Amino acid sequence: MKKIAVAIDGPAAAGKSTVAKKVADILKITYIDTGAMYRAFTWYAIKKGVNCQDEEACNKLIPEVNIELKPGHIVLCNGEDVSSDIRQPWVSSQVSYIASYKQIRLFLVEQQRKMAEKDSVVMDGRDIGTYVLPNAEVKIYQIASVETRAVRRYEENLSKGIPCTLEEIENDVRRRDYIDSHRDFAPLKPAADSVLLDTSYLSIDESVEKVLEIINKKIGEETDA
Ligand code: C5P
Repeated sequence: MKKIAVAIDGPAAAGKSTVAKKVADILKITYIDTGAMYRAFTWYAIKKGVNCQDEEACNKLIPEVNIELKPGHIVLCNGEDVSSDIRQPWVSSQVSYIASYKQIRLFLVEQQRKMAEKDSVVMDGRDIGTYVLPNAEVKIYQIASVETRAVRRYEENLSKGIPCTLEEIENDVRRRDYIDSHRDFAPLKPAADSVLLDTSYLSIDESVEKVLEIINKKIGEETDA
């Protein structure tokens, strides 16, 4: 198979990473969770006692932060395994502030582009099809109703032992979507050439199936052209 990039964007807790991981496994290509990178940066700022709503103070941390995505969905920040900490509500509630800062985005986007230069990738996030990989062969905008997304994330958190209420999760999802879609630089929005995938009534396996169909159709069209 020739080198391809599959961009999966969409609002919070739409199931993008669950689907993207499975699709990458089936296609035997690399999965890149860009949200984990913004989360790891946020984790570092909080640990350093920096106010995540202070853009200037957060920007100053850039030279100190080294984020690595390792096989097995391990996320390292300056060598420390932060894979489970970055899913905690204290990180989720702050991450959209950090992700709205242009300098921090440029710092992380550079690394994301480098990863996609080397290998075929499935990359999920908010701005992959619009900004990070505008030439991606396949662009999907994955959505689900806010209620469905909140229930899914709530159940996922409970299964991981992360304490939360459904109401807290729904508020967090709505707030993050608002900040992510209203920021000035690379906001959350569908790329003009993306395929809309509504997973409100689809199981994980059905969503994976749909994504594989979209990829096969796109790649088939390119081969026919
Ligand atoms: O995908 P996930 O929900 O883990 O992302 C966490 C946060 O990181 C999002 O709410 C958003 O603020 C930010 N993000 C982003 N651009 C990306 C990926 C994530 O702004 N490409």
